[in-house]
Amino acid sequence: MAGGYVGKILKVDLTTKNISTEPINEEVAKKYLGGKGYAVHLLYQYLKEYEGKGVSIKDIDPLGSRNVLVFATGPGTGVPRFPSPSRYHVMTLKAPLTGSIGSGNAGGEWGAFLKFSGFDGIVIEGVADAPVYLALVDGKAEIRDAGELWGKNTMDTTRVLKGIVGGKNTSVTCIGPAGENLIPMAVVMNDEYRAAGRAGLGAVMGSKKLKAIIVSGDKDVPVAKPEEFRKVADKCLGAVKKNSVTGEGLPTYGTAVMVNIINNAGALPYKNWQTGVNPDAESISGETLAKEYLVRKRACWGCTIGCGRISSVKSGPFQILTAEGPEYECIWSLGSTCGIKDLDAIVKAHHLCNELGLDPISLGSTIAATMELNERGYIPEEDLRGLDLKFGNAAAMVEAVWRTAYKVGFGKYLASGSKKLCELYGHPELSMSVKGLEMPAYDPRGIKGIGLNYATANRGGCHVTGYTVSPEIVGLPQKIDPLTTEGKAQWVKIIQDFTSTVNSTINCLFTTFALGTKDYADLLSAVTGWDMSEDEILKIGERIYNLERVIMGKLGFSEKDDTLPSRLLREPMPEGPAKGHIVELEKMKEEYYKLRGWVNGVPTPEKLRELEIKL
Ligand code: SF4
Repeated sequence: MAGGYVGKILKVDLTTKNISTEPINEEVAKKYLGGKGYAVHLLYQYLKEYEGKGVSIKDIDPLGSRNVLVFATGPGTGVPRFPSPSRYHVMTLKAPLTGSIGSGNAGGEWGAFLKFSGFDGIVIEGVADAPVYLALVDGKAEIRDAGELWGKNTMDTTRVLKGIVGGKNTSVTCIGPAGENLIPMAVVMNDEYRAAGRAGLGAVMGSKKLKAIIVSGDKDVPVAKPEEFRKVADKCLGAVKKNSVTGEGLPTYGTAVMVNIINNAGALPYKNWQTGVNPDAESISGETLAKEYLVRKRACWGCTIGCGRISSVKSGPFQILTAEGPEYECIWSLGSTCGIKDLDAIVKAHHLCNELGLDPISLGSTIAATMELNERGYIPEEDLRGLDLKFGNAAAMVEAVWRTAYKVGFGKYLASGSKKLCELYGHPELSMSVKGLEMPAYDPRGIKGIGLNYATANRGGCHVTGYTVSPEIVGLPQKIDPLTTEGKAQWVKIIQDFTSTVNSTINCLFTTFALGTKDYADLLSAVTGWDMSEDEILKIGERIYNLERVIMGKLGFSEKDDTLPSRLLREPMPEGPAKGHIVELEKMKEEYYKLRGWVNGVPTPEKLRELEIKL
């Protein structure tokens, strides 16, 4: 087996309680690496098996026994000195919030420690008849009773399980009450502070009655060419240190450094995307967080960047001793888009999301949509049950978090996400989502490329599928004009393909501020022992992206779903640097499809052949 892998995938059928392992398939690993790529390939095999039995994937219930959940690491995970090597990817055939392919990844420690426990990945099938957790210790796997854990929040679950299992390199990924209650925006949460967070992966875990997976062990991850790897890793880590974002901005201010930067570009969505200029941005900025809330910094396992924060609210109604983050996206979703400038409330709400296991991006966006519906008089007062969701009402926003996790009062509507909620109240146009997934914190009227990326991202409104903000705003690897559509199709395609490779390697996307395809080719060649070129790095990503798109087609998604909310296509930005701009999506999309070799958003047989995708 090539370096970078510990060599086996664990398969657990929770219905039959059967546990087995299968070796990593080297041919598949060469073509799809690990992480997202290996997981997509595995899911496609399930899809083919179902089709062979006459079961259409369209008929699969995301919360039913036929849905499959994959946890996957890659050849970079758990390798000391590989840049930011802590991550794991979670994928599912069908996500509860969107009905699209479900995909998310997280840092922390769990991904690396999964490998140290002796497994490259885990495939979960079936549904347990009572709550269980999985224990993976030194190459052995067991299904154990989780009756005592059911109902506990993510932090208590983690602490209790660590107390039971103990041992070296022990880490827990789990769900909170939101996952147990099958909330479609429930996350999978690891190490108390990192989450695979979008489209309801935690609800899939909850539907399988799988409360947690604890991993522990000290197996080494082999490196094929240690001398060569040492040299390449030193060079890459040096580049990460020297880079203005990974060596300075992120370590100093965390991801919240983006609040002022994006607001100055006129692209920080405010009050449910009615404008991209937030007059109160300074009060919720990374600089304010660092000055008034920061307790200490923290880093995921093996990461030299260390963008994590631990904050504290010292007094007042939202007082809290220590809380993770909050990250840029959460400050925006629970703050800016809700018209809230009270950072105390944002820190508290974000902490509650982590404890209860909710996705703050989808939740904050759904609350913001509710605020606009409410202010426009579209929600009968009695439906709100006293929850006065109006822009700027911080107390109501915090209250809405736990109501959502437990589906209490108006929480049962919030729990369904903004798309369903806005449809229910007759105004689907107020849901700022793509393919049912709430978009993150960048208004594409001021950053055109990210609009094309949102529209064409397979999993829906997602920034980390193709983060064009890097060239468009940050100026890395080169500065391009955010307000033009010219050349954006090419940028989006390349960044989406490269990102797919990074998410399959799998290490932190933030490294791409400093590292390019050549660095990845060198790192992966040294770790695996395969001779990888820059072209191969992009081709692997393109292959993964296209196979994912094939699955999306089988799920019923088509070109019409590659779009944006009408507000972004028709309502010009009212103020700021992007004043007067809309997103000229169709023009960019046509060019993008051509570059991808897709017709009407679907990969052609020639394209699939070129990428050696076996259907
Ligand atoms: S850059 Fe931040 S999110 Fe990425 S691995 Fe490092 S600490 Fe974790």
